[in-house]
Amino acid sequence: MIQTEDMEFAPRVISPENTQEDNETDGSLRPQTLHEYIGQDKVKENLAIYIEAAKRRSEALDHVLLYGPPGLGKTTLSAIIAHELGVNLRITTGPAIEKPGDLVSLLTSLSDNDVLFIDEIHRLSRAVEEILYPALEDRVIDIIIGKGPSARSIRMDLKPFTLIGATTRAGQLSAPLRDRFGVVHRLELYTKEQLTDIVRRSSMILGIPCTADGAAEIAGRARGTPRIANRLLKRVRDFADVMGNGQITQQIASIALSRLEIDELGLDSLDRRMLEMIIKGYGGGPVGLETLASAIGEEAITIEDICEPFLMQLGFLGRTPRGRCATKLAYEHLGYATAEQNSASDDGQLTL
Ligand code: ADP
Repeated sequence: MIQTEDMEFAPRVISPENTQEDNETDGSLRPQTLHEYIGQDKVKENLAIYIEAAKRRSEALDHVLLYGPPGLGKTTLSAIIAHELGVNLRITTGPAIEKPGDLVSLLTSLSDNDVLFIDEIHRLSRAVEEILYPALEDRVIDIIIGKGPSARSIRMDLKPFTLIGATTRAGQLSAPLRDRFGVVHRLELYTKEQLTDIVRRSSMILGIPCTADGAAEIAGRARGTPRIANRLLKRVRDFADVMGNGQITQQIASIALSRLEIDELGLDSLDRRMLEMIIKGYGGGPVGLETLASAIGEEAITIEDICEPFLMQLGFLGRTPRGRCATKLAYEHLGYATAEQNSASDDGQLTL
């Protein structure tokens, strides 16, 4: 969906959250093997060893927790793990497992060494989590049958399986759950070079002609996130088809992305609004997250999960115990003078 000025409530083009349109092409763009998966080298190297070891021993891989901002490849990586292990993958999300019974039927339907992927695992209910503990630790579940005084608990053995949990907020995971994962990896934002490779790979799969500098231009504005890079590629293709001969060049990419209000570093209007509010409304900060969120009419969770990791990586935002601060780099990028520069120029005027 193209974002235009009169579509205020349209989803942001650079929101890393999954959309229907992403789903339509996700299947073909998702790498199938560790070798095809670009970047995250440390995670890949470790997983390759654990997968090989599990295969040699014909055992289930230890439970894996993947965390990091949305769109970085957690779901993709779990599909790759299942593929490399040669087992089935079941995908679900924390909020979808409403009752303990839902989890029980999922767990009992798994075959030997299968992978169960639970996205947004921090959103599991307490009652469901309690079922998960013995399942992860001892491969058993305790089921209560009947009600009242005649209720009794029976213990059921499960087949060996691997749970892969994904979350954007590892801090919100309860300690007992976190402790039951043998492998814990944080996915990092991607470099421009890695994203350029991802854009080139996707453009080849989708049959979109794209020059090397066209791919680099898109990559440079994709805020470290493969999902956004793929989405921008599709948006820029529309411009290339209508304004050019269908080929994505650096010039077409640059025009298209500026029209989408994504600047040369990948900031969109929400990032800029947030930084401007800190600078103009709160003298550069510190300002508390909730105050900032209501000042710009955005949800605190969106700011925290989506704007902040990227702005902090750019060095535009500082987080202190008293709140968020805009850095000198942010002032420079948005064209504002810092307080020091202002007072220096005031001094200058006084001496004139
Ligand atoms: P998450 O589960 O972290 O939100 P996904 O696994 O759904 O992210 O990844 C989003 C999209 O980005 C996928 O469709 C995939 O095509 C692409 N992608 C993610 N990581 C990579 C990677 N390392 N190499 C190539 N493409 C990737």
